[in-house]
Amino acid sequence: MNFKQEKTYVMIKPDGVKKGLIGEVISRFEQRDLKIVALEMFMPTRTEIDNHYPKDEAWISRLGGKTLSTYEKYGLDAKKELGTNDALKLGKMVRGWLVDYMISAPLVRMVVEGVHAVDMVRKIAGATLPFLADMGTIRGDFSNDSPAVANAEKRAVMNIVHASETPEEAKHEIEFWFGKRKVIFDYKRMGE
Ligand code: ADP
Repeated sequence: MNFKQEKTYVMIKPDGVKKGLIGEVISRFEQRDLKIVALEMFMPTRTEIDNHYPKDEAWISRLGGKTLSTYEKYGLDAKKELGTNDALKLGKMVRGWLVDYMISAPLVRMVVEGVHAVDMVRKIAGATLPFLADMGTIRGDFSNDSPAVANAEKRAVMNIVHASETPEEAKHEIEFWFGKRKVIFDYKRMGE
C-alpha cells in the first residue's frame, strides 16, 4: 500500500455545479497538495447513479436512520410527515430522492491523488449533513442543508460533493466511473 499515492473518487454534485463551485472545490484539494489526475464533466444516467449507491439493507437503513435522528432531535414525527418511522423504509425513500437529485444536472467526476487522499478529501469535504459540517470544510462553508428541511421538501440533502469513504470504496468507484479508459494521468507536481 502506497499512502503517498493513494487515489480517491470525487463527484461535484448538481448543487455544487449550479452554485458555480467547480473551481472552488478543485482548488481546495489542490491547496492541500492533492493532485487531480482525472477530471471530466458528464451527465449521468439514472441507472449509473442507481448502481453507484449501495443497495444493501444495512446502508439503506443507515441512510433512513439519519433522517430519524434529525427528526427526533427537532421533535418532528417521521411517521406523520413521511408516512413511516421505519429506518429501512425511510432509507429507500431517501435513496430514491438521492438518485433524482444526482441526475438533475451535469456532474464533475475526478480522481484525486496524494497522501492519505481518501481521508484528506473526506476531511476537506466535511460531515455529510451540511448543517453539522465544520466551517472551513466545503460542506460547512457552502451549504446549510439538513434532512429536516430536505425531507419535508421530499428531496435529498444537497451537500456539494461526493467522496469515497474508504480505499476499497475508492478503488471500486474509480473503476465504476472511469473503467478502463486511459484518462487517469501520472505526472509530478512541482517540488514532488
Ligand atoms: P456521504 O455522501 O457523506 O458518504 P452517505 O453515504 O451517508 O454520506 O449519504 C449519501 C448521500 O445521501 C449524502 O451525501 C446526502 O446527499 C444524502 N443523504 C444522506 N442522508 C440523508 C437524509 N437523511 N436525507 C436526505 N438525504 C440524505
